[in-house]
Amino acid sequence: MKEIHHWIDGKEVAGKSGRYSDIYNPATGELQARVALATADELNAAIDSAARAQVGWAATNPQRRARVMMKLGQLINENMDKLAELVSLEHGKTLPDARGDVQRGLEVIEVCMGAPAMLKGEFTDNGGPGIDLYAMRQPLGVVAGITPFNFPAMIPLWKMGPALVSGNAMILKPSERVPSTSLMLAKLAQEAGLPDGVLQVVNGDKETVDGLLDHPEIQAVGFVGSTPIAQYIYGRAATNGKRAQCFGGAKNHMLIMPDADLDKAADALVGAGFGAAGERCMAISVAVPVGQKTADALIEKLVPRIEALKVGPYTSGDDVDFGPVITQAAKDRIEGLIESGVEEGAKLVVDGRGLKIQGYENGFFTGPSLFDNVTRDMRIYQEEIFGPVLSTVRTDSYDEALQLVMDNDYGNGTAIYTADGDTARDFASRVNVGMVGINFPIPVPLSYYSFGGWKKSAFGDLNQYGPDAFRFYTKTKTVTQRWFSGIKEGGEFNFKAMD
Ligand code: NAD
Repeated sequence: MKEIHHWIDGKEVAGKSGRYSDIYNPATGELQARVALATADELNAAIDSAARAQVGWAATNPQRRARVMMKLGQLINENMDKLAELVSLEHGKTLPDARGDVQRGLEVIEVCMGAPAMLKGEFTDNGGPGIDLYAMRQPLGVVAGITPFNFPAMIPLWKMGPALVSGNAMILKPSERVPSTSLMLAKLAQEAGLPDGVLQVVNGDKETVDGLLDHPEIQAVGFVGSTPIAQYIYGRAATNGKRAQCFGGAKNHMLIMPDADLDKAADALVGAGFGAAGERCMAISVAVPVGQKTADALIEKLVPRIEALKVGPYTSGDDVDFGPVITQAAKDRIEGLIESGVEEGAKLVVDGRGLKIQGYENGFFTGPSLFDNVTRDMRIYQEEIFGPVLSTVRTDSYDEALQLVMDNDYGNGTAIYTADGDTARDFASRVNVGMVGINFPIPVPLSYYSFGGWKKSAFGDLNQYGPDAFRFYTKTKTVTQRWFSGIKEGGEFNFKAMD
């Protein structure tokens, strides 16, 4: 059985706890490896040596730190296919999608190449008579990154890039389902010139996370995962006096107005609803057609598109649209939720349950499912399904559709399809959701903006990556300085005998 280790002080270190988490190949259902879960002592030792390494790294000038990002970017590009394969092997997503996972992380590293400009301070000349003020951004120290299973490359890169280039050391605790990509990224960072100890990958579960949350040396916690855990981590980190930004789950709605191009809307819904088996925090999981005619026409366009989707292992190459879900437990939960939708009276238009793929009978596959006539009180509406299931909630007016989105607990992403600029503008302005797409289904902002939801999709006040990340990973020190009259006012310049 392959054993996955930690990455401590620039090398792989075998875990000593005797506790492991199993890693499956989601396409075959086979147990392919186990990852060691760190003990408190192992975690503490990793934090101590990160704290020592951070001092020299923080003293390294920002341009040199940025050069490490440049080299890391180059190495990620050179290793794109290997990284993508590793992502697919543990996660199950298709290879083109896995490349996208790496690419969207790489783009954050590209922004980090220009970090010195982001880390510049402020200066006021003559804020008072002979008084100047300046503010500098200084690194926090050792920070923690805790990441989910669904983007094994992108989210660790979102965390490590801005934190490291700002002069911090990081303890990265990747998802115990997909740890290998983080380990490979740590190796590439070392090859790029990152000093040993500045990035430690410590594998673990709740015990390790709690150790990070309670350790006095950890100054900030960047978390991405489900909402209950995000809220828990935010609370415990804050109680312990740490900065925290915790990004949670989602239920993203797409409004389809009667004037929308329905072919384009249907294509967008299929891609955004079923891509990566719906395991994206920016997946569209609720279609909201406005008007019964729009709804009927939309369903008619969706059904053949959904029935034509090909599901299979990533090894089938470009031939598959999406792969398996992450575990058997995830598959059971998703299919259980579909059953609850049927029992609660929603119309199951396409039923993806019971899919068997020849040669991969034990894989965690579930086909695409489409519901119509979903209502607010149903579990399939209220819960994040995180699977290939699209729910349709019919509405009779724009106001009703907007209110539906506004009333939802989550506020990660949303989209509107319309030909009318006035409606689109009104929607973007009024909706209480952090990321909005106009005729654009998955509005993940580019890396020089920043990513963050509202409501129960995020806890904390700053977004991840982009300018916000540099604020999160640095603290401001403001100096007010005055110099009393000195040598220019008549200091002694000549060599004189001592009296
Ligand atoms: P998860 O919350 O189960 O796990 C995330 C991380 O938290 C993992 O590293 C895990 O080890 C740790 N963890 C799990 N249970 C814990 C506990 N009880 N105490 C402390 N730590 C714990 O999430 P997941 O299943 O890996 O990822 C899917 C979720 O992540 C979905 O809800 C999805 O919407 C969300 N997500 C959000 C974003 C975003 O930016 N908002 C991005 C990607 C995924």
